[in-house]
Amino acid sequence: MEQIFPFIFRLRTLYVNAFLLAEDEGITLIDSGLANRKEMFLRALSEIKRSPEQLKHIVLTHHHTDHTGNLAALVEASGAEVWAHPLEAPIVRGEVPLPWSNPKSITLKMLWPLVGRLSVYNRLAPARVDHEVADGEELPVAGGMKAVHTPGHTAGHMCYLVERHGGVLFVGDAATNILGLRPPLRMSTLDMTQAKGCIRKLAELEFDVACFGHGGVLKGKANAAFRRFVEKLAQ
Ligand SMILES: [Zn+2]
Ligand SMILES: [Zn+2]
Repeated sequence: MEQIFPFIFRLRTLYVNAFLLAEDEGITLIDSGLANRKEMFLRALSEIKRSPEQLKHIVLTHHHTDHTGNLAALVEASGAEVWAHPLEAPIVRGEVPLPWSNPKSITLKMLWPLVGRLSVYNRLAPARVDHEVADGEELPVAGGMKAVHTPGHTAGHMCYLVERHGGVLFVGDAATNILGLRPPLRMSTLDMTQAKGCIRKLAELEFDVACFGHGGVLKGKANAAFRRFVEKLAQ
């Protein structure tokens, strides 16, 4: 577990990050990692001397199963309330089938016999979503967190901005930070043009730190790095 601020921790399940925000009034988790790792999350809570019951909120960036892997298990263990965009919520609840991550991707179709076995693409146990979140909504969790609708990677993808500490942006899969800032993987992105447009939207926000679903945390002047990235994308 990597400590980013005294109250923000990064939890890694192989190549996917989830983030724990530990406030006095309760714990918020952003995304829930690859499946079958409930114990790892509970251990992380006990490391910071909190009980499972103190996990009050689980906030989802999107429905992809590498981000919702332990959702049902953690909700059961903690009773936490779950937040997601209205276009993601029915998928998480299992009310609609898991959509193709990118129906146009020939690579995905060709590799399907192989990648279809990966846990990322597996259907999970349905989980509860208690709150459907609108663009711009201020969530009453972790001392206040603003939702930013960033469609493209998925239709209801959300980023979340904590305005304290100079601004901490939870990017989800709107961009990745593996060997530098990059757009999300094409194979698992519904609409790349829209996704790139959202990176421009994010670059206009004020934040000093950026926390990604995939890749390292950007600390210090993170929005300046986003602005340079947008210029590069335009070339
Ligand atoms: Zn994703
Ligand atoms: Zn992902």
